[in-house]
Parts: sequence; structure tokens; C-alpha cells
Amino acid sequence: MKPPNAVERIIDTLSEQYPNADTELHYRNAFELLAATILSAQSTDERVNIVTPALFKRYPDARALAKAKPADLEKMILSTGFFRQKSKSLIGMAQALVNEHGADVPADMDHLTALPGVGRKTANVVLGHALGVPGLPVDRHVLRVANRIGIAEGDEPVKVEAQLCGALPPEKWTLASDVQILHGRRVCRPKPLCDQCSVRDDCDYYRNVVSVEISRVGRALSGPPREADPSTGSGSPRAKSRGDKPRATSKKKKTPNDARRVRTARR
Ligand code: SF4
Repeated sequence: MKPPNAVERIIDTLSEQYPNADTELHYRNAFELLAATILSAQSTDERVNIVTPALFKRYPDARALAKAKPADLEKMILSTGFFRQKSKSLIGMAQALVNEHGADVPADMDHLTALPGVGRKTANVVLGHALGVPGLPVDRHVLRVANRIGIAEGDEPVKVEAQLCGALPPEKWTLASDVQILHGRRVCRPKPLCDQCSVRDDCDYYRNVVSVEISRVGRALSGPPREADPSTGSGSPRAKSRGDKPRATSKKKKTPNDARRVRTARR
């Protein structure tokens, strides 16, 4: 794994590649971002952004959402998938905000993750983007990008979050997540577009896997050594060094005199 100064330099370079990196979810306050992030599980930000304007018009705050009927809510969020579970989480989250936090979104990890449907990733999204508290959400994109570059190791989000947070100053935590999420969506996809990558020179995966594959394909395309050409008598350097000669391929036709010579010899 790379040292902290290298991790910070790599995040800075990615920040230059994605100068406006931010969450792609649309929201106006912490409550809306919390609800939108719950909806984004197993869905896309684009899909959630289509659904939320009508949702927030009908349920503009935690008090309104806490009183929602599940059947009504399910219809509105149907296209985001897992709508029954998400409806339950949204109503439960809103009721907990009303009952335990005066309808406000709490600004700390423990209280957020105690809300129904809110895990560490969702809490970090809300803390970092809407509440001004450093948070580094780790999703599948961050896992892939960080492991490939070599700025984190492992497939457990909590461990990768701890590694990245340990290497970066808190004011860069949320940015580090945003730029890696965008990089994972646009360039460092499962099949990466390394020729468009600003951190290629620092990337372990590029050095150990991609460039090795490029060399292998290059060798395969250049083909095997040239074979000897019998029509010209030329051959490969190896054949010439052995003194190999083209083989004669035509047989001499036998004449009656040849047959007589054979009979005489037998006597
Ligand atoms: S060089 Fe390729 S594998 Fe490495 S981070 Fe960039 S896009 Fe991803």
C-alpha cells in the first residue's frame, strides 16, 4: 500500500481530472439527501433523481414522511427497486427523526446509523455532503479504484474507509470518495479505460496487469520468426547458420539402361 503523501497526491490528481466532483444525487437539505441515499441502494442516481422531485413535493420533511401510507409511498418509489423495503426504511427513518431528534437529521455517525435503513455508507454521504462533518463513503467504485491504484487493500468497506481516512486529512475525506466514485463510473470501470486516466503512472493495476497484457498482445501480433523461402534459397538466420539447404523435391525418371545395369549387378 502506498504512503500517505502518495495517497494525497493521487487524490489531488484525480480532483484535477474531476474538478466539480460531488454527489450526483439532487437534494436541498440533509433530510432530502438522507431519503435520496436510502433510495439509491441497488439503483442509480439518475433513477433516484427522476423520482425525488414528486416525492419531496408530497413529503417535504420528516414529519410529513413519518405519516405516509406504505402503499402510497411504494407507488412513488417503485422504479428504484426494492420498493417495499425502501418504503419501510423511509417511513421508519422519518418516524425516528420525529420521535428522537425533533425531526432534524443528527450530525453524527452513531445516531445516523441507528436510524432504520441507514448504514455507514449512507451516513457518510449525508455527513460529508449536507452536514459539514468529514465522512468518506466507500461504495463498490471506491473499493475497485482504491484497490487497483494501491491506495487501499481489501474488500471490506469499513477497513478501506479506515485506510483512506488514515492517509488523508479530514477535509479531503469526502472529496476522496467523490472523485473515486466518478473515476469508477467513467474511466476505471470493471473494464478500465486506462488511456484516459490521470493517475496511470501511479497505478499498481496498470503496472502489474494492464501493461503486461499490452506487451503480451504486442508480441503475439508481431508473429513468429520468418520461415525459409525455397524459391530463392534464402532462409531464416537460424537455418543459414546451421548451413541448411533446401531439399531436392523432383525424382529422376528411370531409363531402360538403368534396368539393365541392375540385372547385370545381380548376376
Ligand atoms: S490506470 Fe487504469 S486501472 Fe489504474 S486507476 Fe487508471 S483506469 Fe483504473
